[in-house]
Amino acid sequence: MSEHPTTLPPELDVLVVGAGFSGLYLLHRLRKIGLTARAVEAGSGVGGTWYWNRYPGARCDVESMQYSYSVFEGLEQDWEWSELFSAQPEILRYANHVANRYGLRRDIQLDTRVTATRFDETAGRWTVTTQAGEVTSARFVVMATGCLSTARTPDFTGMDDYRGNTYHTGHWPHEPVDFSGQRVAIIGTGSSAIQALPVIAGQAAHVTVFQRTPNYSIPSRNGPMPADYAADWKNHYAKRRQQARHSRNGLVVKGNDASAMAVSPEQRQTAYEEYWHLGGTQFMAAFNDLIFDAEANESAAEFVRNQIRTTVNDPTVAELLAPKDYPIGTKRICVDSHYFETFNRDNVALVDIRHRPIEGLTTEGLVADGTDYAFDAIVFATGFDAMTGTLAAIDIRGRAHQALVDKWEAGPRTYLGLTSHGFPNLFMITGPGSPSVLSNMMVSIEQHVDWVTDLLAHMKHHGLDTVDATLPAEDDWVEHVNVVAHKTLYPRAASWYMGANIPGKPRLFLPYIGGVGAYRERCDAAAASGYEGFEFETKNSQTQSAA
Ligand code: FAD
Ligand code: NAP
Repeated sequence: MSEHPTTLPPELDVLVVGAGFSGLYLLHRLRKIGLTARAVEAGSGVGGTWYWNRYPGARCDVESMQYSYSVFEGLEQDWEWSELFSAQPEILRYANHVANRYGLRRDIQLDTRVTATRFDETAGRWTVTTQAGEVTSARFVVMATGCLSTARTPDFTGMDDYRGNTYHTGHWPHEPVDFSGQRVAIIGTGSSAIQALPVIAGQAAHVTVFQRTPNYSIPSRNGPMPADYAADWKNHYAKRRQQARHSRNGLVVKGNDASAMAVSPEQRQTAYEEYWHLGGTQFMAAFNDLIFDAEANESAAEFVRNQIRTTVNDPTVAELLAPKDYPIGTKRICVDSHYFETFNRDNVALVDIRHRPIEGLTTEGLVADGTDYAFDAIVFATGFDAMTGTLAAIDIRGRAHQALVDKWEAGPRTYLGLTSHGFPNLFMITGPGSPSVLSNMMVSIEQHVDWVTDLLAHMKHHGLDTVDATLPAEDDWVEHVNVVAHKTLYPRAASWYMGANIPGKPRLFLPYIGGVGAYRERCDAAAASGYEGFEFETKNSQTQSAA
């Protein structure tokens, strides 16, 4: 008999959608507060992002000592990471270890995609339907569906004509892909492509990279995990995890509380060199105003461009790879292992498609920049319909049968990134309007799961049946998210943070940039005031509002 259930019970307290890091921790917490819960997962295994993104070179861009759970008893002390930035197979093993060790599998139903969920106002429950036609009734639904879980392949003409193999980094096959002797195209130069290229180039006969927008990337300085480094983290976990929870990005980094333009050019250069050698996303902590001040940002951007110019032998290729038309850090900064160096290989070519885009696929390859290219394989590293795409793929209907996609037509509207008015008892983990993708996601996931389960425990304790965000609270939050975003340089980039990578998607800044520490304080304050901004109901229809 499978250790996973294969059918849904008719009734549940909580249905969790997704069994990535969010879904796993949710199950653990929900059990502790005595609610019956089931996680349903579209994939055939747990791990979410790390189950799907099996492309060569996939690894975390936040150090493993930090990109790991802090909340499972015993786990952070026992688990040994083999590298500073662990690779996908190891992170997936970790997710599976968690599922086994904490007995979560008995409540995880795999190969089950939720297609619809409707709120029954009379019963105060959600009717959830799966792709296979199973139906269950749940008091609460928690969308642990991920921010980067709907892979996006562009609508190129001729997709069906192409006779070679195609792959999307976010939907990589489980069996090994052997590119030996092949001519490979990689479309895209985001984080996924930047990780995949050096590995694929080491195997394939030839790789052609099609670049629309160059990216700023910082070397990871990855390597085997030094035993004393891991031991030091383990000895100081209690303090450092707490620091991360109250930080801006959910990370403990060496910060510098100076403004870039307040120091001399020599001091600036020294600081950038120091942070460049520290590596990874912490480069953006070299000064305290790099995401706020255009001049400060430009000084950091030029430093990185100069690193690219120094690394890449061909000056024309180097200039194409050096981003110039958006501020550094306003697209997710990439973290690489020898990405720019890879363009010095004889078997790697860069094609700039900025002004002459890919026209379409042919039987043999693709046409771009007016030229026909032939390939044995095409890798789409073209990203995701981030933050809203996965939710939009589920027919979610709240009060008065309102569809969430209709309510969000002009952009997502949430209170605290956790709930949306008119959709009672429905929660999102790391939803739009939460810091999520701007942070070390483990910290954000744990905070969301803790906050939601604390609210459910509160409702259980007080005999409350439904909870809904009030409209004024939601309106205020949406406004606040927008105002804070526009105090930064982020809206200047055509990024997936802005919905800009999906044709027709509303252009607005999706995550909350106020910082995970400040955000946590707001969430905690709402809870401490008896859940300000939320309205509760009991079965006898008495409305209780804390606002
Ligand atoms: P996910 O891991 O995305 O899991 C969501 C799950 O929900 C998926 O398994 C999906 O199949 C399932 N699902 C979705 N819709 C349905 C449905 N309708 N029915 C049933 N199941 C459904 N973050 C960092 O902080 N640091 C990193 O280094 C980092 N690296 C990343 C690397 C890659 C390649 C990508 C794509 C993302 C990375 N992220 C990183 C972000 C990463 O998504 C989060 O860190 C984290 O893994 C998200 O966990 P989650 O459980 O919230 O969502
Ligand atoms: P991405 O950052 O959105 O990059 C997609 C790339 O594809 C971009 O270069 C984009 O160009 C290009 N592209 C999209 N449509 C195209 C088209 N029609 N023609 C040509 N090029 C096209 O996606 P991603 O690299 O998968 O990364 C997404 C996010 O996942 C990251 O930002 C990060 O948060 C996470 N991630 C993290 C890691 C890690 O290091 N741990 C690794 C992978 C992913 P434009 O820029 O011009 O749109």
